[in-house]
Amino acid sequence: MHKIDIELVEMTMDVMKYAINRISETNPKIGKPKKEEELRALVGETITEKGIGGEFAFNLWKEHLMKANVPIDHPRHLAFVPASPTRASIMFDLVTSVSSIHGAYWMEGAGGIFCENEAMKWIVSLTGMPEGAFGVFTSGGTAANLSAIVTAREYWRSLDEQNKVEKGLIITSIGAHSSVKSMAKVVDADVLFVETEDKMYADALQSKIDGLTPNQRKRLFAVVGTGGTTNAGIIDDLDGIATICEKESLWFHIDAAYGGGALAADSVRHLFNGVEKADSITIDPHKWMFSPYDCGAVIYKQPELAKKAHAQEGAYLDIFKDEGAHGFNPTDYQIQLTRRVRGLPLWFSLAMHGTDRYKEAVERGLELAQIAGRLIEENPNVELVRTPSLSCVLYRRIGWKPEDYTHWTYENHKKGFALVTPTKWKNGDTFETVSRFCFINPDTTEKDIEMILDSMK
Ligand SMILES: *Cc1c(COP(=O)(O)O)cnc(C)c1O
Repeated sequence: MHKIDIELVEMTMDVMKYAINRISETNPKIGKPKKEEELRALVGETITEKGIGGEFAFNLWKEHLMKANVPIDHPRHLAFVPASPTRASIMFDLVTSVSSIHGAYWMEGAGGIFCENEAMKWIVSLTGMPEGAFGVFTSGGTAANLSAIVTAREYWRSLDEQNKVEKGLIITSIGAHSSVKSMAKVVDADVLFVETEDKMYADALQSKIDGLTPNQRKRLFAVVGTGGTTNAGIIDDLDGIATICEKESLWFHIDAAYGGGALAADSVRHLFNGVEKADSITIDPHKWMFSPYDCGAVIYKQPELAKKAHAQEGAYLDIFKDEGAHGFNPTDYQIQLTRRVRGLPLWFSLAMHGTDRYKEAVERGLELAQIAGRLIEENPNVELVRTPSLSCVLYRRIGWKPEDYTHWTYENHKKGFALVTPTKWKNGDTFETVSRFCFINPDTTEKDIEMILDSMK
């Protein structure tokens, strides 16, 4: 047995106090970045031969370093895709850490993986995918998209010897997330775009396919649709696209990293019709399912195809495939080997609160987008660029140039008031700089939105 270190136990108390403060905080500050040399001047050298001591290092964190971060769950953080992990999930993230679980194989992580799978069952049930469909938690949407694309590509290559020497081709729309293009690069596949940032319709996809050269058509193996674009919350015509993929024998991947949480909301569920026909789906619990970073998920209609693509072989790994372990090995279904049981905080929070609370919290995000839409229409300085979609609202400050938006963003950030960033939206042939809200946090209030709009005077 190793000796109990009193200093460490005392430090643990300090850390718990910090965690309690964080979890019970009602008025968090929006931190702002500092230059590296400024941070260096504040904290000095921290990695030394003898160590600077836990208490000292922790104080540096609390006094200086933490303040240079933006807590993603601030109610006036409406930029990018914010987050809002439940208190219960944050708390259990600590438990996940102290439990030291290896989440790759059932043999070592059965208890944790069991819990992850319980949470996954709920997520899969939201999609309405057929019996047998299942998924795993990944580090995020990027890793989930990559895992799905690799599975699709390997499946396609298994169909025909000739495919093994061809470079694959994917079709998606320009509204798709940057990670789709990026991950296609990783698997060395080409990407063609249906030229719309708005909803991708089946007709447009069909004409894109019909316009391919014979060589391109031979190389085409997958279509990626989006279930809630990151920029504007737009959901592609999933049902129509599924029909085409079926007819053309193409893998249909749906990227619902951001929008997937809205599958829980009765008011918008119909917009996702056809999602159940996908071959694979990406959903990020760390976006709209209130999980702490990092937690993505990839779900497959036929998980055995993912296993064919991803299961790692290795002399020292053979024991894990032993029948004695009888279980589900998360490593077999995505790109990572060693992994945190990152679905565990979600499981605890779902178990504690029940799924109805999740529905309500997502509905509140949708409602906040409607409220923002109304406030924008009532305010003479601003106007909607398009009707709010899911929880994304694009609007313009009448008369503002791109640099006015940038200046306004930095001013609000500097004051610790809000983080709202501009984006671009296609207006005819040009891209217009506009402002954007993305609501995730159910604690954001109407008053918060009013104050932000007022700051645009
Ligand atoms: C955020 C997002 C991603 C990337 O997910 P990460 O978790 O940041 O890796 C992919 N696709 C969509 C649609 C997203 O909104």
